[in-house]
Amino acid sequence: MSKSSAASQSSDASRAFRTRAIHVGNEADPQTGAVVPPVHLASTFRQPGSGQWGQYDYSRSGNPTRSGLQQTLASLEGGCGALAFSTGMAAIHCVTMLLESGQHVVAGCDIYGGAYRLLHNICNRSGIEVTLVDMTDAQNVADAIRPETKLIWGETIGNPLMTVPDLADLVAVAKDAGVLFGVDNTFGTPALIRPLEHGVDIVMHSATKFLGGHSDCLGGTLAVSDQDLLDRLYYVQNATGAVLDPFSCFLISRGLKTLELRVREQSRTAGRLAEWLEQHPAVRRVLYPGLASHPQHERARRQFTDFGTMLCFELEGDFQQTARVCEATQLFQLAVSLGAVESLIEQPASMSHASYAPADRQRFGIGDGLIRLSVGLEAYEDLQADLEQALG
Ligand SMILES: *Cc1c(COP(=O)(O)O)cnc(C)c1O
Repeated sequence: MSKSSAASQSSDASRAFRTRAIHVGNEADPQTGAVVPPVHLASTFRQPGSGQWGQYDYSRSGNPTRSGLQQTLASLEGGCGALAFSTGMAAIHCVTMLLESGQHVVAGCDIYGGAYRLLHNICNRSGIEVTLVDMTDAQNVADAIRPETKLIWGETIGNPLMTVPDLADLVAVAKDAGVLFGVDNTFGTPALIRPLEHGVDIVMHSATKFLGGHSDCLGGTLAVSDQDLLDRLYYVQNATGAVLDPFSCFLISRGLKTLELRVREQSRTAGRLAEWLEQHPAVRRVLYPGLASHPQHERARRQFTDFGTMLCFELEGDFQQTARVCEATQLFQLAVSLGAVESLIEQPASMSHASYAPADRQRFGIGDGLIRLSVGLEAYEDLQADLEQALG
């Protein structure tokens, strides 16, 4: 690293989040002065001599556009480094590949459906076992830990029940047991919470969601604050190959520049919708960490700078009636995924959490009447009117 870039990096931390989102990793191109760095599509790089290695050699191992994005991410998460993957699942898979046969994972009981499937149907083939627990009480995690446990995996906001675990308590349990603690912060985003600052070992995002923010590319990220752990994860990533392509890196870098503004504004709308829905006669309950009725509301207030853009509500109706409401909205589009400027609606039991075993869905309270909203950047009044007509 040149002297000047070392100096500019050390002064980074004093700058605000949204300033760093725009400037770190996005330095003007020294050759042309372009204020947006070029997208480097090259798959291979000339080497200084036979058997000699420059800064870059082959794009799976390293690419300047990916490096720029990773620098931005590391700065926003407050970590020593970050890695960008082809998808969020590839990022989670990379973490699980730190484990060996015979080892054990304790995970949250309302995690992302794809993470549930990876742990139960893929990692099991390598002899890795998983126990799901309600993470809102750290004691449940402590009780599930065995001598062979190597990883605790949770979400800063559970999915779809919007549970909020106490990160400090879980960090204490993990440290006590000497196991890695990773969290999926896709719902939280680094704009609202930075788990590394709470002592979490690994923070993961599906960059497909808020970081990209426009429903137009896939991506996943990991960030850590320990160099040795970063090296181990990089080794797995480079050995298995699920890196993010340069054009998607560019799109996610661009998305990050407006992350904080989008998340703040979308959270404001989500909060207003949650309050309105809570009063609606067709709605049995609303799950949103910003509501006083949310079981972990005080904890969420302590941990987050805002309450996020995702909310769930439960109808009085059955599976069919719930499906009909999801099909009746016009602005809220019926689709999985989340975190973009477009508002989306879905029924977890038949969509995002269809990969759960039906018995587990029932056991963990993911009912047929549940509806999940990803609140976008449209005007509150329009979104509220859309839900009103769909609820009938
Ligand atoms: C979408 C999502 C993932 C998976 O990310 P992909 O980019 O779709 O692979 C993981 N966790 C959460 C919470 C998600 O919403």
